[in-house]
Amino acid sequence: MEYRQGTAVSPGIAIGPALVLDTEGVLISRRTVPPEQVDTEIVRLGRALDETAAAARNDRERITVRLGPALGNIYAAQQSMLEDRVVRMQIEARIRAENFSAEYAVSRVIRDFVKRLEDSGQRLGDHVAAEARRRVTEFIDVERQLLAALLGHPTNPCSNLTESVVVLANDLMPSDTADFGPRNVRAFVTESGGPTSHTAILAGALEIPAVVGIGRFLSDVSGGDTVIVDGGEGVLIIDPDEATLARYEEKRARLLARPDRYEHLRDKPSVTRDDVPVPIRLFGNIELSQEAAHCLDRGAEGVGLYRTEFLYLNKSSHPTEEEHYAAYSSVLTTLGPDRPVVIRTLDLGADKFSSVSGAVSGEKNPFLGLRSVRLCLRNLDLFKTQLRAILRAAQHGDLRVMFPMISNIEELRQCKTLLNEVKEDLEYAGIPFKREVAVGTMIEVPSAALMADVLAREVDFFSIGTNDLIQYTLAADRNNEHVANLYNPTDPAVLRLIHTVVQAAQKEQGRRQEHGRRPFEVNVCGEMSGEPLYIPLLVGLGLRQLSATPRKIPEIKRVIRELRVAEAEEVARNALSMETASQVSSYLRDHLRKILPSEAVD
Ligand code: PEP
Ligand code: MG
Repeated sequence: MEYRQGTAVSPGIAIGPALVLDTEGVLISRRTVPPEQVDTEIVRLGRALDETAAAARNDRERITVRLGPALGNIYAAQQSMLEDRVVRMQIEARIRAENFSAEYAVSRVIRDFVKRLEDSGQRLGDHVAAEARRRVTEFIDVERQLLAALLGHPTNPCSNLTESVVVLANDLMPSDTADFGPRNVRAFVTESGGPTSHTAILAGALEIPAVVGIGRFLSDVSGGDTVIVDGGEGVLIIDPDEATLARYEEKRARLLARPDRYEHLRDKPSVTRDDVPVPIRLFGNIELSQEAAHCLDRGAEGVGLYRTEFLYLNKSSHPTEEEHYAAYSSVLTTLGPDRPVVIRTLDLGADKFSSVSGAVSGEKNPFLGLRSVRLCLRNLDLFKTQLRAILRAAQHGDLRVMFPMISNIEELRQCKTLLNEVKEDLEYAGIPFKREVAVGTMIEVPSAALMADVLAREVDFFSIGTNDLIQYTLAADRNNEHVANLYNPTDPAVLRLIHTVVQAAQKEQGRRQEHGRRPFEVNVCGEMSGEPLYIPLLVGLGLRQLSATPRKIPEIKRVIRELRVAEAEEVARNALSMETASQVSSYLRDHLRKILPSEAVD
């Protein structure tokens, strides 16, 4: 039994057979075969070994001619592994002794080699460890090639499952998780990734238990091994013993039997406990149009963030204008005429659908590269197609449009100019649309936060994207578990930026009030606004709108209904005067314990 701790990103307990995906998405399934099929498996194995060795030989010759023998030798090492009689004999032995399928025997034998190499690397120090790591990579690559040969190069590992599994992977792209659903995937666990990675966000939205950022573990597990995932605690248990299995079966049953704890608050107002209660408006974040209904189920007042780039899930080409239009119209129709729906324009690139045409592949620093609105402004057809659909769909409800990743005012002005151009095009073509659509910008780059007073004059609302604001402020990749200790919503630098933005928004509110104009609004739509711990702080900083994964809304409402604004303001003042993230976090924990004395606060 092996016990691993990672970051909890989507709660729930799952117990089931593992499906190990390597980075190329090769499926490794545990399978035994009837005794009469053993010879066939040996023949399949021989064929796959020969085919793969021939390919490695071919690559070696090609690369040696083009790039010299040093690089050609990488393939020579793989070729010799594939031609190694000991390797072949060991795999054959597992097939004969245990009736394993060729795929499973390959996976088992290679992963045993890998495990031994890793152990010897750890025992014998840095120099050996580096060499061991190199050999491990070669072995994993050989395994992947062999499995691809045996399986006929499957493309979609989750589409042909006959039983539901726990998916284990180094990392998953959002498009991988798109095929996941309770029918085929019970949970997933990744070696890398952080709590605000898009994969994690999607897991929360699909309500599949998930743990990310566990560090290396794939060499300790084979497809078919039983695993337990505790998505609430961030735990993975490989090959559990009977007592552990029974304990988690029981915990799982208990959780399933428990109704949503705060379901009863669904139709209660989201107001503070002040003598004159202050309303805090709660909205839902969605990735897929189907989730609009989740917002209503959880009592949201509207959609605060629709991440439209998820229209690219499972698509090899750009969505058409009609596809955009249909998705937006469906969300607006579900929400009805009076609930706002904030549609964010495409935030492609970095870790989201970075392979779409128009994106630059192989950028060294994709999070600082041609991402989001920068990409759209270089691909005007793509951008205009979406804007046309947005303006047309706006006829069906209270649609608001929002631009992501704005880093200076010129970018924002370019986006607005383009929006106006699209309106003129639609007008000229006689296509019905809504002209008066509120326009907002995300504040998720420190430069935008610092210039919030200037940006505020140009838009109707702000939405603070704390996921990116934190990573860009602290120079800590939101998906990298090695810097997860730096990526901290309570870092005083982050708090000061949020404070700056809210102050700029409040000043703009005052200015507009004087002129009798529509009030300026400011919202937070990063994962921070879905965490009870941060709610008093955000309210105290002056926020009156929050947008979070629908599942989180009842819990947030519960905290709001225990708050008094004056106390929350004191919390924010004290937090702003602190020097470190850990001081702020423990202060917030103490405060939450005080206002929710009957609940466990961790
Ligand atoms: C954010 O950055 O906080 C945000 C809401 O946008 P995304 O997570 O989609 O980058
Ligand atoms: Mg963002």
